[in-house]
Amino acid sequence: MSLTLADARLVTPAGVHEGWLTIEDGRITHVGHGSAPGPGLSLGGRHVVPGFVDIHNHGGAGGSFPTGDLGKARDAVELHRRHGTTTMVASLVTDSIDGLRSAASSLAELCEEGLLAGIHFEGPYIAKARCGAHDPTLLREPTPGELAELLEAGRGHVRMVTIAAELPGALDTIRAAVAEGVIAAIGHSDADYDQTIAGIEAGASVATHLYNAMPPLGHRAPGPIAALLDDERVTIELINDGVHVHPAMLRLAYEVTGPGRTALITDAMSATGLGDGDYVLGPMRVRVEGGVARLVEGGSIAGSTLTMDVAFRRSVREVGMSLADAVQVASLTPARVLGLADRIGSIAAGKAADLVVLSDSLEVDGVMKGGDWITEPR
Ligand SMILES: [Zn+2]
Repeated sequence: MSLTLADARLVTPAGVHEGWLTIEDGRITHVGHGSAPGPGLSLGGRHVVPGFVDIHNHGGAGGSFPTGDLGKARDAVELHRRHGTTTMVASLVTDSIDGLRSAASSLAELCEEGLLAGIHFEGPYIAKARCGAHDPTLLREPTPGELAELLEAGRGHVRMVTIAAELPGALDTIRAAVAEGVIAAIGHSDADYDQTIAGIEAGASVATHLYNAMPPLGHRAPGPIAALLDDERVTIELINDGVHVHPAMLRLAYEVTGPGRTALITDAMSATGLGDGDYVLGPMRVRVEGGVARLVEGGSIAGSTLTMDVAFRRSVREVGMSLADAVQVASLTPARVLGLADRIGSIAAGKAADLVVLSDSLEVDGVMKGGDWITEPR
């Protein structure tokens, strides 16, 4: 069975062109310019972009990955898929080691089903002074042995672990993670510039939501932000919701790293897709007001209610990225971080047919995953 999508504006890494594509067995087989050679589904000149890839996401639609409740986790995946995210990693906030092991072991099932592309431990190896919405009483010093236990619970599906580079044992644990093929990310950290460099030298290659939960840039104390921005080996995560990071600071980071080292993330929590009200993030109580999630105790920002389509749209509208660059930061760069760029992340022959159809105002009109419509364009 082959399907042709015609009369489309295709956004590829090379730019935007009018054209068509064919899909067979879940993959893109041809990408062409101009009119399609045969009959096809006309998209009426709408944009088609690759499905979004979210490497940091805690849930949505009332479901929270940290609970390990698979029914709810499925609801969260479904919500984000309808917003164009065709590949996502489930992030776990700090919990007891037993709690993390049990959440990872149940989420591994969703990885095996292909609903999730992996699991991310955002805690417990983070700094008390920068713990944000993580429970400070459950934070721990990292050790390679304990990390190995967590990885084992995830049955090979743990893709990322966030570590504060200044903690005792951090560098050895970063090395151990990388040796196991797990991405080490620096974040929720009170590290100074030199400690951050040491973390990168040990193998850390991602900045967990740059700016948030780390010391600010200072001209004599450049801190982790300057170290992470400055190093070509590091990809920075940015939460582009207009709340977590001021657009001017987001632009500043992006001008340094460019689309090849910038990954948009949602950091979405369970309230995403629902209204204001009371929710939980792991063991912490969260209140959402005006779409902004904060801890009931202390008021720290506690994840977001962002979806990738909104982050993508804001990148074009508020940050001023070209469509091709916005596609790169929402799809190809995070796909590369996960080691999946040969299979997903752009519109090219041979890649999975993970596609988003966008209206003129860049709203999601249709989503396809592996050649099947999640929502069919009207
Ligand atoms: Zn998070």
